[in-house]
Amino acid sequence: MEDITIHEFDVALINEFFTELERQGPGSAEETVRALSFIDNLSNTTKIADLGCGTGFQTMVLAQHTKAAITALDLCPGSIEKLNAKAAKLDLQKRVNGIVGSMDNLPFQDEEFDLIWSEGAIANIGFERGLNYWKRFLKKDGYVAVTYESWFTNERPAEIEKWWLDAVPEMDTIGHNISIMQNAGYIPVAAFTLPEECWIDNYFAPQKARQEEFLKQHAGNKAAEDMIAFMRREADLYSRYKQYYGYVFYIGKKI
Ligand code: SAH
Repeated sequence: MEDITIHEFDVALINEFFTELERQGPGSAEETVRALSFIDNLSNTTKIADLGCGTGFQTMVLAQHTKAAITALDLCPGSIEKLNAKAAKLDLQKRVNGIVGSMDNLPFQDEEFDLIWSEGAIANIGFERGLNYWKRFLKKDGYVAVTYESWFTNERPAEIEKWWLDAVPEMDTIGHNISIMQNAGYIPVAAFTLPEECWIDNYFAPQKARQEEFLKQHAGNKAAEDMIAFMRREADLYSRYKQYYGYVFYIGKKI
């Protein structure tokens, strides 16, 4: 178990587990709204892209706190199906459109968006790579707002460092990530850390019942058992090492 990394699990199995949960990464409505408070000039002509949207928890928060038209994109068709159903249920389907796609090959026009949002997903293509690539899809003076795994200190115990560098090889400190954002051609507008409730209450706690259910559904399936053991270890490591790392919201404005 020690040496298994997230990359070794079957994406279908990960998606089957997570699409039943309200969110697929740490975060909260409050922190999404806090990040949104740094964005100027929001109106009913604003266009937002939400990349790696999952089943759309933060997409609905964005829709309910703006008048913008939102295109939400994710690689997982099951998540997009759930997102579009949720939008219809909330009567937001005129302004929220979920599409299947990859955030490193976007089906958008240059300078199409006023705001690119992405919670808990940019590490899939790399923080630096994502910020550089996404910039062309933003209008001048448009904003990017992403959450990304970050170290809070210069040094950290080897156990937690190894775990995260296996999952996110480019993981770095907040200061370093702000300079990456600046070098990519954005004015760094704000950076703030997500409080631990975003992990403990909104990410790990809802996983517990789902893990039990999942193990029953996949009884005897070694891959499923390994995946659940991995998730439990992730939660245990967080409880022991949370002073060393977390998600940080980075908000930048395209120059
Ligand atoms: N934003 C959501 C989901 C975060 S989980 C939340 O905070 O709850 C990360 C999401 O990124 C998953 O839904 C996964 O399917 C998606 N993803 C991974 N690689 C991707 C890619 N290359 N393009 C688009 N989405 C991707």
